[in-house]
Formats: sequence, structure tokens, C-alpha cells
Amino acid sequence: MKLTYKFRLYPNKDQEKKLLFTLDRCRFVYNKLLEELNKQEKIDRKKLQHSIVKLKEKYKELKEVYSKVLQYEHYRLFSNLRALSRLKLNGKKVGKLRFKGKGWFKTFTYNQSGFKLIETNKRLDLLHLSKIGNIKIRIHKKVKGKIKQITIKHCSSKKWYACITAEIKEKITRSNNSKKVGIDLGLDNFIYDSSGNKIKHPKILDKSLKKLSKEQRRLSRKKKKSKNRKKQRIKVARVYERTVNQRNDFLHKLSRCYVKGYGFIALEKLNIKGMVKNRYLSKSIVDASWSKFIQFIQYKAENAGVEVIKIDPKNTTINCSNCGSKVFKKLYNRIHKCKCGLEIDRDYNSAINILNIGQGLSKFTPVKIEPLRELTKVPASSVVEAGSPLRSLRVVHLPISYI
Ligand SMILES: [Zn+2]
Repeated sequence: MKLTYKFRLYPNKDQEKKLLFTLDRCRFVYNKLLEELNKQEKIDRKKLQHSIVKLKEKYKELKEVYSKVLQYEHYRLFSNLRALSRLKLNGKKVGKLRFKGKGWFKTFTYNQSGFKLIETNKRLDLLHLSKIGNIKIRIHKKVKGKIKQITIKHCSSKKWYACITAEIKEKITRSNNSKKVGIDLGLDNFIYDSSGNKIKHPKILDKSLKKLSKEQRRLSRKKKKSKNRKKQRIKVARVYERTVNQRNDFLHKLSRCYVKGYGFIALEKLNIKGMVKNRYLSKSIVDASWSKFIQFIQYKAENAGVEVIKIDPKNTTINCSNCGSKVFKKLYNRIHKCKCGLEIDRDYNSAINILNIGQGLSKFTPVKIEPLRELTKVPASSVVEAGSPLRSLRVVHLPISYI
């Protein structure tokens, strides 16, 4: 199993110069390889890889960059190419791969070798990068397993990070937790699940988004190409980064709760409700939350032996989770009210549908659709047990009413 950690780097001036130099030379090699690729009538990977050697002979300064870091650009080019053809297969209109301009190249990678983590027993440890030096790094979490790859990232906020991927040789056994859950993702509540937990978007994110839109407005008022504009752009990037960090922190905690609490999780494939407009400019952050959350759940579940099923969200809002009949509703109808007598929050109804559909698609769980009436017997407080980490999140229990 593979895990990736992200740590902040604190390079000195000289090291930063070298980092920027490496970044720029990698961009140069990437663009040269792309140029070469465009010339090839039939794609020849080996020949392309060999052209790095030729480049190094022609441009001597490339020798100042660790050779495997340059080789990685060959890999990057082909993985971009693969991603492009995947999009094409899915019927998306795609162009050609583009040359990377300055500022569009933000990472370079050490694969397998050329790096070492050095413990100092001080607040900051050291990360040795071949041809660059020993850079101060803040290891806030213990790295487990063998480090396979390190990607150095330069953010728009001008901060540097190291993304460390480590591998642990451990056989994953299937979770023996028999609890199952369906999760509905939405705008009003971030989550409504089939166990009756309602989780709101964190308040702190609201505040940060407000601040972000304020700083963005300020940026738009600054004169083009001015020094102040440049400064403000970095400020916006910093606030943006902080907001993304807060969001990820929330999503990590939340996804951990679900993976710990359940042995089976059903989710929607994509969220149609995401189309709904948000109050703030930076709606992209909120929108991206759903896909991030699904991504977090998936990799955490994989490492914990928890089964995750992604289902087609079609009709999950309309169908009655109790009797199966269709109950059409407008977006503002927050309650699902069916002639069978079921009257519950629409998102709760969706969550139960998601769970039921998911169970039908499960590889492990036998199909057994639980009648809803049983669910109502479960007191809400028993769903989130005392001491459960879900408690610390903003969990609100829903009222269930039966007529
Ligand atoms: Zn019904």
C-alpha cells in the first residue's frame, strides 16, 4: 500500500535558486521532448528517452540537474498523453498537448533515488536532494514504510512543498465491520447519510471563502502589471492555499470517520446538485470538495479493506426509498413526501436509495434491502456512538416522522 505525505520545505536563498533552476530546466526538457514527439510520425518512446542524453550533450547546464529528475519528464509527457487519450475515449473534445510556459510548471520529481530524509531531532529535519542540497523540512507526521518518490512543488503562494510517497508491505484484509452506509453529497448539507447523520460545511470554510473573495476583489482593482498587483496576487494565492488546506483537513477527518465506522460505503458517481450556484466567488473550492471527498474515501477505504461502491445518481432523489414509487420534486422541495406514508428529508431519502443501489452492486455483501421501518427504530444517538470522531464534527440529527 502506498501513502503520500505533504510537508513544507524551507529552502535558503541559494537552495531556492537551485530549486527554481531545476524547475525551469525540467520545463525546458519537457518542451523539447514534446517538440520531438510532435515530429515523430510513429511514436518511439525509446528514441525519445534517448534524446535526453543528446540534450545533455548540447546544453551543458542540464548536468546540474539530477539525471533521474530529467528522465522523469519523459514519464510525465507520456502520462499526460495517456490522460489525453482517455479523455478522447470518453468523447471529450481534446486538442494536442501544449508547451509549458513559465509559471505553468510547478513540480519536479525524484523517483527511487537522489534523496534522503535526515533526522535532526530539532523542529525542522532535513531533506537531502541530490544536486540541490539539504533543505529544511517540517515533518509533522511520521513517514511509514520505504520512500519511493518525492515530488517538489512550488505553489503560487511561493511556498515550497515535498510530497513524499512511501510504500508499506502489508497485506490488506477485508474489514469485518458489517455496518453499511449510503452517502448523499449536497450543497445545503455537505453530507446526509443513510444512518441519519447530517454534516454541514464547516463554518471556518465559510469565513475563509469570504476573505478570499474580498482579496480577489482587491486584486481586480489593482493596476495591471503593477508591483502592488503582483503582491496582491501572492496574497490571494496564500489565502486560497489556506482555504484549500482547511477544506482538505475537514475532508480528511470526515472520510477517516466513515472508513473507520463502516465496512461498506455507497456514494454517488458525480454530483448533479453541484451545478447549483454558490454564494461566493470561489465556488470551485466547494465544488471540488465532493470529488476530493470521494477520492479520500476511496484511497482510505482501499487501505483499510472497506468496500466502496460508486453508483449512478439517476433517480436517487425521485424514487421513494420505502416503496419505490416516483415522487417528483422541485429543488426547493426539501421534504420527500410519499403516498406510502414516508415523510423524510429529501437528501436522507437519497442516501437510503444510494445505499440500497450500492448493496445491489456489491461484490461481497449479499443483496438484502433493509426495510426503512427498521431504520426508524434506531435512535439517532446510537448511530453516532459516544466517543466517535463524527461527534466532533457538526453532526445534526434529522427528525424522522411517520404519518
Ligand atoms: Zn413511498
